[in-house]
Amino acid sequence: MQSFRFECQKGCVRCCEAPGVVRLAAGDADVAARHLGMGTDEFHSQYVMKGADGLFLRPVEGTRCPFLLADGCAIHEAKPTQCRLYPFWPEIVETRQSWRKTVELCPGIGKGPLIQIEDAVLRAREMKTAFPECYDFANRGLNMLGVNPYIAFSGNCREAIAFYKDALSAEVLFTQTMGDSPMPDMGPAENIMHCTLKVGDSVLMMCDDPRGGAASGGNISLAIGLNDPARAAVLFENLSAGGTVIMPLGKTFWAEAFGMVADRFGVKWMVNCDAPK
Ligand code: SF4
Ligand code: SF4
Repeated sequence: MQSFRFECQKGCVRCCEAPGVVRLAAGDADVAARHLGMGTDEFHSQYVMKGADGLFLRPVEGTRCPFLLADGCAIHEAKPTQCRLYPFWPEIVETRQSWRKTVELCPGIGKGPLIQIEDAVLRAREMKTAFPECYDFANRGLNMLGVNPYIAFSGNCREAIAFYKDALSAEVLFTQTMGDSPMPDMGPAENIMHCTLKVGDSVLMMCDDPRGGAASGGNISLAIGLNDPARAAVLFENLSAGGTVIMPLGKTFWAEAFGMVADRFGVKWMVNCDAPK
C-alpha cells in the first residue's frame, strides 16, 4: 500500500512562518469573512490586497500573515485553500527531494491517519485548479527544465549506486531511504526512495521500485559521450564487469570507439567516443 501519515498539528505555525504570501482562491474570502462575522467587502478592504496575478492576504509587518497568532491560526477552521492544502502542493508532492525539506519543516508528516498517495495527488490537483496562474508553466516560459534518465531497481539500488560510483566516477548528490522518507510504507526501510548521481555534466536518477517489479532492458540505452579513447575503454570495461557485452568497443564509421553493454543490473549503455580534439 502506498501511503504515508499526515495530520496538521494543533498550535503549530511552522508553515505559516515560512516566507511568502498567502494567495486567495475563489471563495476563500467569503469563507473567512463568514467565519469572522463580517461582510466580504469589509474583509476585502481590511485583509485583502490585489497583486498582478491574483488576490492575497495583506501581510502585516512586511511578511507576516494577518491571522498568524502565537498559538496558531486565528481562522483555523476557515483557512484559505493554500493553507488548507499544505503540504499537498504540486511542487512538493511531485518532487521527491522537496519532501525531505518539508519533512524537516512540518511535524505533521509521519503522524495521524494514513493518506493514500492517490489522495495526495488529488489534493495537489486541487491546488493546481485553485491557482492555475501558479502552475501554468508553459505560459511562464518554464515548461521544460530538462530530461533525466530515471532507473528503477528491484531492491538492489544501493548496490547499483556503489557500482556506478566506481565504474563511472559518479558523485552521489542525494540519497534517501524509504525508512527516512515520509512514505515509509513504500517498501523495506533500507530500500532507496531516491538517489541523484552526477556523471560528468549529466544527472542520473534512480530508486528501488516500490512496486517491486522493476523491468530491466527495454528499448532505452544510456549513452555516454566522450572524446578520450583510453577513458572510453576504462568505462566500457567497468560497465561490462558482471554484465553482457552487446557490441564490443571498437572503431566505427562515426566514432573513434563505440560499444554497447548491458551491465550487471540489466541497464543498457552505449559508449560513444569521438577522436580527441
Ligand atoms: S507545518 Fe505542518 S503541522 Fe505545522 S501548521 Fe503547517 S501543515 Fe500543520
Ligand atoms: S491564514 Fe492561517 S494557516 Fe494560513 S498562513 Fe495565515 S495563520 Fe497560517
